[in-house]
Amino acid sequence: MRIYLVLLGPPGAGKGTQAQILAEKFNLVHVSSGDLFRENLKNKTVLGQKAQAYVDRGELVPDDITIGMVKDRLMKSDCDNGAILDGFPRTPAQAEALAKLLSEMDGKVVSVPFISVPVETLIERLSGRWTCQAQGHIYHEKNNPPRVAGICDLDGSALYQREDDKRETVMHRIQVYQDQTAPLIEYYRKQNLLTEIDGTIGIENVTDRMITAIQEAL
Ligand code: ADP
Ligand code: ADP
Repeated sequence: MRIYLVLLGPPGAGKGTQAQILAEKFNLVHVSSGDLFRENLKNKTVLGQKAQAYVDRGELVPDDITIGMVKDRLMKSDCDNGAILDGFPRTPAQAEALAKLLSEMDGKVVSVPFISVPVETLIERLSGRWTCQAQGHIYHEKNNPPRVAGICDLDGSALYQREDDKRETVMHRIQVYQDQTAPLIEYYRKQNLLTEIDGTIGIENVTDRMITAIQEAL
């Protein structure tokens, strides 16, 4: 049986930060749909060209493109034990597609930690977020600074500020989350998979609560 965790929460909640830590802890691959899109944008692939305008505007890339991309990633052999999904699913149609895919490959979602953070905090986090060019490692200029400004501690690559982390786009992304992704909270709650976690308590404390929730579900 392959094991999947779905990290749910608004942009800036800390999904990527936690997924990077939990992937090591549980020996699962971190699959971030945002990272996959950014890789395709950087490499100017056909998929990247289709996604570009949506990502730039802070809108969701259409379901068919997104589902196909994530499905291809989950079929790769490094996902044989399962994966930690960060940023996917983001719509009810994506959640249904995931359930269907996993049922076909003897996998299941075992836990859905929902990281909740108030909107003012999200804006402060996204405006101070610095991301590593090479592998998407995540920093914050105040909350989680790199040892050397502008350089990733883990791989030495340059840090950059995402174009879509500028204020106007952030406000729109939060709205899109509320309209299109928040319904998944009830979707997974009904399946008894959801654990709500206060995302304002510091990175290590959030990790501890996530580990407890996941271990209870395993
Ligand atoms: P998401 O993947 O949900 O968009 P990130 O993991 O990229 O969120 O985190 C957004 C920003 O907030 C980053 O700059 C990160 O360093 C910072 N951050 C993440 N978790 C916390 C936390 N618990 N407390 C303070 N800052 C945090
Ligand atoms: P955040 O760190 O704010 O949660 P992501 O890195 O997950 O943002 O996503 C960045 C952008 O990539 C989104 O604004 C959207 O355009 C696109 N994207 C990522 N995941 C999905 C998805 N599951 N469905 C549609 N679009 C997505």
